[in-house]
Amino acid sequence: MEQNIRLGRIAGIPVGINWSILVIFWLIAWELADLVLPGYNPHESITIYWATGIFATVLFFASLFLHEVAHAVVAKRNGIGVRRITLWLFGGVSELESEALTPGADFRIAVVGPLASFALAGIFGALVFVLAKSGRHQEIFVNALGWLAWINLLLGAFNLIPAAPLDGGRVFRSALWKHNGDRVRAAAAAAHTGQAFGYVLVVLGILEFFAVGLIGLWYVFLGWFLLSAARSEESAAVMRSSLSGVHVRDIMTSDPITFASEMTIAELLDNQLHHCRFGSYPLVAPDGHLEGLTTMSRIRHIPALRRPTTRLIETACPLSGVPVGKPDEPIPDLLQRMQTSPDGRALVLDNAGHLVGIVSPSDVARFVQLSMMRSQARTIPRN
Ligand SMILES: [Zn+2]
Repeated sequence: MEQNIRLGRIAGIPVGINWSILVIFWLIAWELADLVLPGYNPHESITIYWATGIFATVLFFASLFLHEVAHAVVAKRNGIGVRRITLWLFGGVSELESEALTPGADFRIAVVGPLASFALAGIFGALVFVLAKSGRHQEIFVNALGWLAWINLLLGAFNLIPAAPLDGGRVFRSALWKHNGDRVRAAAAAAHTGQAFGYVLVVLGILEFFAVGLIGLWYVFLGWFLLSAARSEESAAVMRSSLSGVHVRDIMTSDPITFASEMTIAELLDNQLHHCRFGSYPLVAPDGHLEGLTTMSRIRHIPALRRPTTRLIETACPLSGVPVGKPDEPIPDLLQRMQTSPDGRALVLDNAGHLVGIVSPSDVARFVQLSMMRSQARTIPRN
């Protein structure tokens, strides 16, 4: 998930928001100011409705952040790095650097999110209770807090539905994993229920669209998102199982050709490209040190007129942004880091820091296809 606005760090983890969150911020603030709050308190001014609505929406997003921070803190406690937390159209995402090593850790990381939402519901509920008893309050303010208690309760409950990628799907996965000892089968089962739930939401959304109106479309989109996320979780689980025990050196393209950072795109196209069948170009400075990686798709975006004057380094992703692996590292670990890299490729360096290979998505796809064909060949009876 791309972070368009960095907000800072919570518990050492970079937090930020994606632009898509503004859509949902506006929708929730509007629903509160135009429908929910006037329903509770019919005689306030528009300014009060909107001020309270925006205030409650901000607290709602803070609640979403705290839900994610709970996941992230428990992940860190269980030895798993957290790259960042991002809020976007469908809520929060904590990007973990690796998978949980045990079913217990998987369970704890998943369940703490809904527990945080329930705790927040309890805190907002207690505030409502205390303020209502004291009698000294703005009633609309208490109603907004009551809405926050209710929405956090719903959020916690919704996330406990046992359908991946929801937290409940992860809880379900950890339970199956503990029961049958097979992480991949457990992940595939949780992804199946996730797909089923996605279909249910899409159908309910369509019915709601015809019965109530536009709000139904929201459930259609959410269902569609869950469906596709569950599908990709399933294929990731299958891929991980065919890649377990495989190392980076088994998959990488060895001894890649490097290119001078100062070379222009025109020079590359005229003189060099026929030497190279690949779409990735590692760049080296005149003193020989590796500076970054550019790709066919990056240079394709430069207009033809600018190609004679644009140096390759100007189009490149700097080395700090490229995932780097070691030849003897398990490939699933490197793939995890490649997921969030802009070009989806990794450079492989030996212990002395020399470039010894490149891993691209096509290297991985080729390997997975070959290993699947090999396992099919093994199942064919031979005379
Ligand atoms: Zn969660």
